[in-house]
Order: sequence, then C-alpha cells, then structure tokens
Amino acid sequence: MMHMSEKKKQLFGTNGVRGIVGELITPELVMKIGMAVGSMRPGTIAVGMDTRTSGPALINAMKAGLMATGCDVIECGILPTPALQYIVMDRYDAGVVITASHNPGAYNGVKVIEKDGTEMDDEASIEIEERVFSYNFDLKEWKDVGVLIPEADLVTRYIKGVIKKVPENIGQGMKVVIDPGCGAAFRTTAEILKGIGCDVFTINAYADGNFPARDPEPSVEGLAPLAELVVSTGAAFGVAHDGDADRAVFIDDKGRFVEENKEFALIAEYVCSQKKGILVTPVSTSRLIETVVSAHGCTVDYTAVGSIYVARRMRELIAAGNSVVFGGEGNGGLIYPDHQFCRDGGMTAAMMVLLLASKKPSLSSLVDALPPSVMLKHKFKTGNAEKILVVVKKTFNADSLNTIDGIRIDRKNAWALIRPSGTEPLVRLYVESSDETIAKGFEQEILSCISDLI
Ligand code: MG
Repeated sequence: MMHMSEKKKQLFGTNGVRGIVGELITPELVMKIGMAVGSMRPGTIAVGMDTRTSGPALINAMKAGLMATGCDVIECGILPTPALQYIVMDRYDAGVVITASHNPGAYNGVKVIEKDGTEMDDEASIEIEERVFSYNFDLKEWKDVGVLIPEADLVTRYIKGVIKKVPENIGQGMKVVIDPGCGAAFRTTAEILKGIGCDVFTINAYADGNFPARDPEPSVEGLAPLAELVVSTGAAFGVAHDGDADRAVFIDDKGRFVEENKEFALIAEYVCSQKKGILVTPVSTSRLIETVVSAHGCTVDYTAVGSIYVARRMRELIAAGNSVVFGGEGNGGLIYPDHQFCRDGGMTAAMMVLLLASKKPSLSSLVDALPPSVMLKHKFKTGNAEKILVVVKKTFNADSLNTIDGIRIDRKNAWALIRPSGTEPLVRLYVESSDETIAKGFEQEILSCISDLI
C-alpha cells in the first residue's frame, strides 16, 4: 500500500472540490462526498452555500448524503464561507459549504470544514476521495438516519461575532460603499458595517447566481461602478467581495483599486502596531508586508501557497507557544487569529474601518505612503516544471533559497518565486523589487537560465 504522503488528491485542490456544473460537479458526486463526510465525521453538520444557480440542487444532494449516514444537518442557507466556519467552530462536528468562491457562475464546488472551523486537510480529503471512489460509506438503517434542522438565522451569530471584535461604534460618521457582487456577502457585510456605526451604501447587494453585474472575482474593470459610487458619495472607501466573501478588496476614497498586497500591508501594519509577534503568509506574498511589519518588530513566517497552509501554520506556531498576530494571502484573504483561523472578508471590511478611524488620514494617502514596489508576473505553459526547478536551484545556489513551494530566491533588493501549478501544466514566475530596473534585471537572469525549458 502507498504511504499517505505519496498519494495525490484527484478531486480536491487546495480549496476543496471545484469544477464545472454538469461536468465534474454533479448531484451524484456531491451526495457521495456527503456520504463520505458523514461516515468520517458522524454527528451534527452545518451546511450552507453561496448564491450560485446550482446551489440548491447540489446542497440538497449534500444533505441527503449526510443524513443517510446518520448525521443531523443544520441548514444555514446562503452565507459567506467564513460565516459557516464561524458557526461550525466548536459548536458542530463539521461543516460543508457549496461554493466555487471567485470562479464564474458555471462553476460550483464543495468545501469541507472541520470542527475547529478550519478547512479539511490533505489527508482527510484523500480519505474522502478513497471512500467516494470505492463506494465505502457507513449508511444507516431507517431508525438511525439523520434529521434536517433549518437554521437560516444562524448567520447573525457571525455578524455579531465580527462586530464584537472592534470597538463599539468605531465607524461612527464614516461613509462606506459595499459591493458583494451578487454573492453571499449580500447577507452580511452591510449588517456588519452598520453594526459598527458606518453610513452604508450598497451596490450589487442581492443574490443572483447569474452574476449579472460583475464576475465573482473582483477586478479593476468589474469594480468600476463601485469606484464611481465611492467618489460620488464621498465615501471613505468601497469594499468588494468574491462569491463566498472570504476575501475583501478595496477602492480608496479617490476611486482607485487598492492592490491586494497593499491592502494586506496596511492592515498588517496596523495589527503589528498593536501587538508583537509573527505574521504567517505564503511565499508568493509581496515583500511589502515583511517591510512594514518588521518596522514594528514583528517577523514573517512563509508557508506553501494556499490559505489552509497559512491557517494551519498559525495554529502550529501558537501551539508551540509563539505569539501569532496575523496571517493571510496577497489576494485580499486575511486571517485574524483572535477571531477565527480562516480568511474572512467581513472581518477585513471591519478592520479597514478600525484602521481608518484610528489613523485619521484617508485610505488613498495611506496607500500612497507605502514603500514603492514593482511586481512582475509571468505564466508559462510547460511540461518541464521539474527540470526548471532543478536548473533554477543550481543556477541560484549562491542566493538564499526557500523551497517550501517551488523556489523562492531572496536577495537584499529583490526576490523571485518560480512555482509549478498544482493542477495545470503551468509554471508561474513572480519577481519583485522596490526598483523597476532591478526587478527587470533579475527577471532577465531567471528567464535566460530557463529559456530552453519554456
Ligand atoms: Mg473565496
């Protein structure tokens, strides 16, 4: 038999199972995943979904699978992924969200949440797959099947939980605009920001799985109407979410899109000015974060790419007695360890209010005051990922290398990451420096050593 570590996930990626509805994602597959989860995590399981058109069909299959294996199902309806994680945390035996996060409407997927509110790890995900492929389920007889308990209002527990994390009425007099993009945050972020005293305007704040206004992935183009509204209302900022609202991205008071690493740096700086310790982030994150937090005496611990690795590393460091103050990714997915160990877009919106209320200057002036950064990004279609890594490692062996996920080369004035995709025949290259000439020179050094392989 193969060792667990040698086994590869086939259905699950870094963020659960995800795919096109009617192709990979069918009610049959979702029900089998439900029967597998129910067999592995017997007890009471909370389920929820984002606003996708396929959500109701798939969540009913999930509930059927869970109840058939004896689980009682708490049905939470439409809600953000972090809201379900908050609800599950230490109250239920597990949770399941039917969501495809930032993917277009044709997609959907399944994300499994553990008792502690974190996403299921690789080993347990592989066990689900093995059970699905071998039809190995602990199906119950008629007396022992589970029951369905509708609890659509549990989402308010999450809203109150976020409100509690910032000082009362901290947003008093602050005007903000929210764009949930017709995704799950239509139920939560406006309530959160009103709850902390803000004057709230909204756009695209209704459920529509056709995503008529913009893609679930927040982009500069998609957020143009939000930016206009921020300027015309004179708001302090605009906040937008992806489909399941574990991420938040911002528009500043001048109507400019705030690049997500800059958002991360600003909130990290605030957090580290309040509390000393470690910040955890993947090797793909901008060095801006390290620059601003080290100025406050905090350190950065780098992980593999994927929020679950960040969340687990944060817990590991805390369990070993370290102070861990913050975590997150450079895509607007930020993790507040005093709140819960997952990315939380609603919490990030509340943190932006807290940051601006205590710092006083405008968001645009805070963004402009950040150190300069030039990040160059490339994507190469190639089957030579392994060879590329070997060549890069050899060529740059005099540099400081981190090989936790691909190869990160750290120099004093620049860094680069060469990283094969886990799911496609692709290699990504990131190069960053505060100086464009240095970034381009470093990029050229790397490209010339791998040019035969791409
Ligand atoms: Mg998401």
